[in-house]
Amino acid sequence: MSTQQPITLHTSTPAGLKDQTPKKVSVHLDHDRLMDCIHCGLCLPTCPTYAETGLEADSPRGRIYLMRALAEGRAETTPTLVGHLDKCLGCRACETACPSGVQYGHLIEGARAHLHEHYERPVDQRLKNKAVELSFPYPNRMELALLPVRILRRVGIIPLLHKIGFMKLLGNLGDMESLLPPLPPISKRLKFPVEWKAQGEKQASVGMMTGCVMQVMQSHVNEATARVLCKSGCDVAAPKTQNCCGALHAHIGDIEQAKEFARRNIVAFEDWQKDHGPLDAIVINAAGCGAALKEYPGWFKGDTEWEERSKTFAESVKDVSEFLDQPAFKSRLEALTKGRKQETGNGKQQTELAARDVVPHTTGASTLEAVNDAVESDAKNKIAALNTQTPKTKDQRPKTKVVTYHDACHLAHGQGIRAEPRDLLQMLSDNGEFEFIALTEAEMCCGSAGSYNITQPEMAMQLLERKMKHIANTGAQVVVTGNPGCAMQIMLGAKKFGPKVEVLHPVQVLDRATE
Ligand code: SF4
Ligand code: SF4
Repeated sequence: MSTQQPITLHTSTPAGLKDQTPKKVSVHLDHDRLMDCIHCGLCLPTCPTYAETGLEADSPRGRIYLMRALAEGRAETTPTLVGHLDKCLGCRACETACPSGVQYGHLIEGARAHLHEHYERPVDQRLKNKAVELSFPYPNRMELALLPVRILRRVGIIPLLHKIGFMKLLGNLGDMESLLPPLPPISKRLKFPVEWKAQGEKQASVGMMTGCVMQVMQSHVNEATARVLCKSGCDVAAPKTQNCCGALHAHIGDIEQAKEFARRNIVAFEDWQKDHGPLDAIVINAAGCGAALKEYPGWFKGDTEWEERSKTFAESVKDVSEFLDQPAFKSRLEALTKGRKQETGNGKQQTELAARDVVPHTTGASTLEAVNDAVESDAKNKIAALNTQTPKTKDQRPKTKVVTYHDACHLAHGQGIRAEPRDLLQMLSDNGEFEFIALTEAEMCCGSAGSYNITQPEMAMQLLERKMKHIANTGAQVVVTGNPGCAMQIMLGAKKFGPKVEVLHPVQVLDRATE
């Protein structure tokens, strides 16, 4: 039962506002696009917060109504109204379900920009937001903030501090420690090579976005990404001049800072290509960042200097699963997994032979296209079969390792990437690496959502518990997901609610399978 106060909406123009022209209320609230909602309610069952609270104001339709009321000057930014907007995960599941093409992600980002300028948050919220804003996008600062955790973990007294209740005294800081996975050595990030060379015959040159959280907390995933790209025949470039994608600032409404980060990334990869030649793609392994990078043109709409440059940049961005699932790269990886199996019995030479049998000997667009076409229909058939898969009961399953897949919201709903990671996992499953089992509500948010588990811990935990129950039902030992935030959230869920699962990025699974 909600304890929140009802929201007052004016049915007529409030005193002081001469008309309801929305542009006078805020440049950030896009009234025309808010009007795209036809109130059908088809999005409601897909919304995680509505599923948990059952409140219309915590549903996409309800929030659109509140945003519209703000745009028309019929509602004020009260703590209750802001609370309903803040509780939105920005997962965009509603966009997937909407038959009317409502661009909810754009609408909520606009509403947050409006609140950023017009709403004075309580001090504790402002401090939390500021801490996230000033640390997450900057790897060196994040390292500094994490130093006490590293020291306490090294000394080995955290379990004792939990036991005697000291971590509870630290409140949010104590909770945040438990959110953190094991931290990789700082040297991994600092020594991450700028250039990686293709293994075997080169098929493409790609740029790599290394991210902020990924660099600091999951640098081993970045290493696996670069290694797998090399194995698939790519030269990899990770220019040091790149920085945060800007997603975090965009989500909290600071669009100007987000654009500043975006400009620096565009320049970083433009400069690299001027000096080293063109890149075939810019690859990213973090779903949230990938969705933001692809949205750059929207951020620069109408900007004569940056709109075209941001379009060129965004068109080259590919999530790593999206990139590797192209037949030319996938077939190279498949050959390596098959080769590894032969190697076990017949020696290393067969690994190389197997790879050469499948991979074309010449490079260039026409060869890639030919291989892509040849394998495309086979991949489509496999994906169609996977989508209609009926989950097996525990008794029906063979005694091999079971792997399941959780869709990161910004990959599935933000970028429409669902089939590609599944196709790569199914390839490994077909090769006998493990059994791949579908997850119920795979597309429902795990509660991570950027900094949501810090700013909205209660709802984040409710959603995590729900996710872990579904994971338990698959009997999986490994959960695969394509976003660092989801990975850390599910790691936390495994500790807090069980089952004890290993959480991996698709590239880690590919890396292990092609060792
Ligand atoms: S973005 Fe997600 S949490 Fe927000 S309204 Fe849409 S479905 Fe609900
Ligand atoms: S599905 Fe789309 S049009 Fe229907 S209520 Fe939801 S947002 Fe509005």
